[in-house]
Formats: sequence, C-alpha cells, structure tokens
Amino acid sequence: MNSSNQTIAAGAVAEYNQCPVIALVVPCYNEEEALPVTAPTLIGVLDRMVEEGIASGESFVLCVDDGSKDHTWSIIEKLHERYPRLLAISLAHNRGQQNAMLAGLMTVRPICDAAITLDADLQDSPDAIIEMVKEYRNGADIVYGVRSSRKSDSWFKRNSARAFYKLQRRLGLETIYDHSEFRLMDRRALDCLSEYGESNIFLRGIMPHIGLNSAIVRYDRSARNAGETKYSVGKLISISIDGITSFTAQPMRLIFMVGVALLLLDVFIGIWVLVSLFLGKAISGWASIMLSIWFLGSLMLIALGIIGEYIGKIFVEVKNRPRYAIAKEILK
Ligand code: UDP
Ligand code: MG
Repeated sequence: MNSSNQTIAAGAVAEYNQCPVIALVVPCYNEEEALPVTAPTLIGVLDRMVEEGIASGESFVLCVDDGSKDHTWSIIEKLHERYPRLLAISLAHNRGQQNAMLAGLMTVRPICDAAITLDADLQDSPDAIIEMVKEYRNGADIVYGVRSSRKSDSWFKRNSARAFYKLQRRLGLETIYDHSEFRLMDRRALDCLSEYGESNIFLRGIMPHIGLNSAIVRYDRSARNAGETKYSVGKLISISIDGITSFTAQPMRLIFMVGVALLLLDVFIGIWVLVSLFLGKAISGWASIMLSIWFLGSLMLIALGIIGEYIGKIFVEVKNRPRYAIAKEILK
C-alpha cells in the first residue's frame, strides 16, 4: 500500500472504530526500580478505559528498553508473564529517549489507533491518559500533555526550561509551551511522522510541524516514583542545542544581520576616525587601520551570513521532510 492509501485507511479506522486500540509507549533506560510500580498502574488505566468503553480490549503497553545496563529487560519479561497486555522491544544500544520513542511508535503504528508516549517513572499523570483518549475521540489527531505547574522541578530545571522555550520561539521554532514528551498521536499523525527521515529527531518540534487537529490536556507533573533522572545538566544542554539546530538555520541569519548592523555602524566610526584625523588627534596610520578593520570585519560577517543562508537551504533539503500533511479527504 502506498503512503497516501495508508493515510486514508488510517483515517477510516480512526473514524469508525468506536473503541480505539490505545498503545502506551514507554521508553525505559535503567528503569528497574520504576517499572514494577509503573507497569501495574498503566495496565490499571487501560483496564479502566476498557471497562468504561473508551478503549478497546486490545489496548496495550509497549516498553522500549533503550539498551539499559541494569535489569530492566528481565523485569520487563517477568512483568509480561504477569500482565500479557504489557509488550516490549529492546534496542541493541542506548540511543536516547527520542530514538527509543520513535522505535516504539513505529512498532505500534500498524497495530493501534492511537499511541501515547510517556515516561517510565509515572511523572506523566495516568489520569491525563484518559483525558487524552477522550480528546482523540472528539477528533484530535495529536493531544499534547501540558504541565499546569513546574513545582516538581528543581530551580535550575524550571528556569532553564523556560529560557529554552523562549529562545526556541525567538528562533522561529514552533513548540508547545510546557509540553515535553507526554502526547497522544493517532494513526494519521504516526503516518505523517513516519515520513520524516531525519536522524536528529526532535519529536517536540516535529509534531507541531506536522500540524493536524490538536488539543491540549493539562496535568500536574509529579516527582519520579523511583530511580533517578537520566538527564544530567550536560544532556539537557545537548538536547536543547539539538532541538534548535535540527529545526532552524536562524542563527546563521543572525550572523548576516550583525554584519549589516556593523556596516551601518561603520558610517559613524568612519566619521569619528576622520574627525580625529583632521583634528590631528590621530597618530599616522591609525585612521587607515581603523577604517579597514571595521569595514572588512562587517564585510566578512555579511559574507559568512550569505554562505550561511545557502548552508541553511542545503540543511533543509537534505532533511527531505514531507512538504505537507493531508488532514482530511473526500475522495469519493
Ligand atoms: N530514557 C531513555 N533513554 C535515555 C534516557 C532516558 O529511554 O537515554 C527514558 C527514561 O527511562 C524515561 C524517559 O526517557 O522513561 C525520560 O527520562 P527521565 O524521566 O529520566 O527524564 P526527566 O523526566 O527527568 O526529564
Ligand atoms: Mg521523568
């Protein structure tokens, strides 16, 4: 089946399936302490949705073991024996949360109507899962979990996250404020996501880039149920830089703008240098060196900026992203 047929088929499933199959995709890296608590809670949420007639009995949890170095996989195997609704895949190496989520989403794509990604530590409220599914059933293709507060974060994380969101916005990257990776994506959104072939994947940026119908569910993010955060300050900075550089070439345009601004400033510098020269305040050779330093400096920044513009175009082309996503069709 080609991808446009797949999109149509996915739409048909979502529209007519009264009880959607929901997949909870949980990336797990060294989560041996958290999983024994998280798994029964998530299975409990699925059971509740099945009982209430919101989700199909075929709904499941998919744990993605992201190359854990502890006993995460053997714990998952035991949990699967106890809860057959808990399925899993294991990545050969630690590839990071983004890749682990992507692997899980692409695995569940053919076998669910909607998938929800969430942390293995129950920081993403299980009750909000039900709200998300309700929003999906009301017609949303993507539902973003948005934190109502950041009380559970450290001072550093709270403020650095805010600064990061602001910087992203300034640089023209569209992201949802206070939303991290807790989100529902229906089959149509997953089909669109599958067409993004880039290696530096940043799901928080890609989902708004896809567009489609979206909704927001607010929730209180609690503290980790067990274990420790896998994000050191270094890792947080690295993912922030990845997020920006994989979405926008705007920093290169800034170089060009600085060059042009300096060129304008050169007029005033030139007047000051010439006045100093004619008033006899300058030693011989100073005026010509000053003028050439400022003028050449501005020209070099402008030239770098122009090269940057072309590199920016190459950067967009090599990503080979889909140029559009179809949200609705009437084809017959
Ligand atoms: N995670 C992962 N691979 C990694 C790092 C983290 O799969 O290399 C998972 C981790 O097990 C958790 C989720 O990503 O389920 C988010 O990580 P964590 O809870 O440590 O981040 P925080 O909530 O502190 O930002
Ligand atoms: Mg967490």
